[in-house]
Amino acid sequence: MRLSQMLLVTLREDPAEAEIPSHKLLVRAGYIRRIGSGIYAYLPLMLRVLRKVSDIVREEMDATGAQECLLPQIQPKELWEESGRWSTYTEAEQIMFALSDRQGRELGLGPTHEEVITAVARDLIGSYRQLPVNLYQIQSKFRDEIRPRFGLMRGREFIMKDAYSFHANEESLKETYAEMDQAYRNIFSRCGLKFRPVQADSGAIGGSASQEFMILAEAGEDEILYTEDNQYAANVEKATSLPADAVPSSFSEYQKLETPNTPTIASLADFLDCDATQIVKNVLYQAVYDNGLTVLVLVSIRGDQDVNETKLTNEVARQAVNYDAATLLKLTVPDEEAQQTWAAKPLPLGYIAPNLPDSYIAKAETVAPKFLRLVDPTAGELTNFVTGSNESGFHTVGGNWGAEFELPEIQLDLRTAKVGDRAPHDPSQTLQTARGIEAGHIFQLGLKYSTAMTAEFMDEDGRPKPLWMGCYGIGVSRVAQAAVEQSHDGNGIIWPVAIAPYHAIVVVPNIKAEDQLAAAEKLYSELNAAGIETLLDDRPGRAGMKFADAELIGIPYRIVTGRSLAEGKVELVQRASGEKQEVALADVVATFRAGWLRHWLKGSA
Ligand code: ATP
Ligand code: MG
Repeated sequence: MRLSQMLLVTLREDPAEAEIPSHKLLVRAGYIRRIGSGIYAYLPLMLRVLRKVSDIVREEMDATGAQECLLPQIQPKELWEESGRWSTYTEAEQIMFALSDRQGRELGLGPTHEEVITAVARDLIGSYRQLPVNLYQIQSKFRDEIRPRFGLMRGREFIMKDAYSFHANEESLKETYAEMDQAYRNIFSRCGLKFRPVQADSGAIGGSASQEFMILAEAGEDEILYTEDNQYAANVEKATSLPADAVPSSFSEYQKLETPNTPTIASLADFLDCDATQIVKNVLYQAVYDNGLTVLVLVSIRGDQDVNETKLTNEVARQAVNYDAATLLKLTVPDEEAQQTWAAKPLPLGYIAPNLPDSYIAKAETVAPKFLRLVDPTAGELTNFVTGSNESGFHTVGGNWGAEFELPEIQLDLRTAKVGDRAPHDPSQTLQTARGIEAGHIFQLGLKYSTAMTAEFMDEDGRPKPLWMGCYGIGVSRVAQAAVEQSHDGNGIIWPVAIAPYHAIVVVPNIKAEDQLAAAEKLYSELNAAGIETLLDDRPGRAGMKFADAELIGIPYRIVTGRSLAEGKVELVQRASGEKQEVALADVVATFRAGWLRHWLKGSA
């Protein structure tokens, strides 16, 4: 491609809308243009990068025996009602764009395709002999994200590879899951990225085991906790750890003490001259289920620990059945206004005890009359602890479960694991922290969708059984931008060769110099003929501007037909290292073939 014929507009200034380097650079270097919030045009250079990423994904998927297909982006509401996700996706998370057609039928724009593929599998898979199968597609997804940001990282329309596998039993699912794990490792390695697979929360998609693939970068939205021995790595949403030991309580007698102005753990520990690990903290949440019922949730946890809202949301969602509800719509910390909608009297905020009486909840049909009380083991294991008294300005000390306080029936891990905590698999290891960009996610869905949607097959024993299912996603457009986040410098993007839009760019410093132009034209056609994807900067203008653009758009190799032409040579510059080499015109193609390119490709593999 000739730059003189290309729609390439580069910017010297950072765009106001961009916060992180990769977003700034992709806009400045002419890869993407913002069309609306979270909506971008992929310009020609970007499309080439997206194709390269997609090709790698396709090759690795095909190598596992998965088959490519293409599913509709417009999906009928009825399918999502069968799985029970219509209300979660349109009301609770409001992530799905919903619309209605001229006949008033409701439709959603596909944020993901479990429902559609399960409907296909239900129709087409009749027998165990057809299993296992794994189908994938690469297409644009639509999600009405609360906070679209960082360019392609969190778009409202973005490109995803999603795959869905079907199995006769769990063992077969686990085999494919392991193959996908390996395929994903191959994909990210081949893209030239530094990444880490981590244990993950399964969220609204549901199911059991799941793993995320994190591209390591400071700007990543996710926190990863891992150990040096690489035996443990998890998203903080999912991570578990051994908490620090509690300092034994110095209070041996149960007492109520006046503790003025101590609504926080720090102020209370300070006032009583005790340790935060001796305090039982009680945090109030408000849940709303899809049947309109509000449930007040009281979580007791040790004073030095924080509630992990992902773990809490999962448990409160599991409790839905006990409230005749199907799904949890919302879980929030109720502010004053929210409290007024259900509290019978003002709450002793900052002084709440685990036994906060249910009489604080006003009688109403839409509000559960009792608190849902949960306790984290860090609090459940304490003795002679300090906690609230349900009266402002007072706390109790020396309290015990089974004596002054009834231990909540539901005891489970609700803690946020923290950097420095001891690792569960080996207490001599402490958790380290890193930031990552979630680029891929693989799930063992189990029977969730097949049961909900009655997708069955006839097993060897002649009985109908629900299909076992797995799903596997990669954010193709997010991966492309994450590569830039991981690899750039003050002058611009540094593409890994494997996903660079072009391998080389031939720069003509002065197009009026006929020898320069002629040599460049010749190299341009020779390199392209040799399979080295090459750009030709044959634009009028200053050499400095051309060099700056070549660096900005991040092409791995630059060839300059400049001064050394007099000796029959050109300059070869490696974008990543800045390393320069003079090469005879006739040797350029061979140099690429034998030398740097192969070396680089190997390095990134
Ligand atoms: P996140 O937690 O970042 O919102 P997710 O858990 O919703 O991601 P999945 O539903 O597992 O993501 O989607 C599969 C992949 O699609 C993700 O791993 C990610 O790479 C990509 N992806 C998800 N949402 C977006 C988005 N809004 N913009 C770009 N890529 C996305
Ligand atoms: Mg999401």
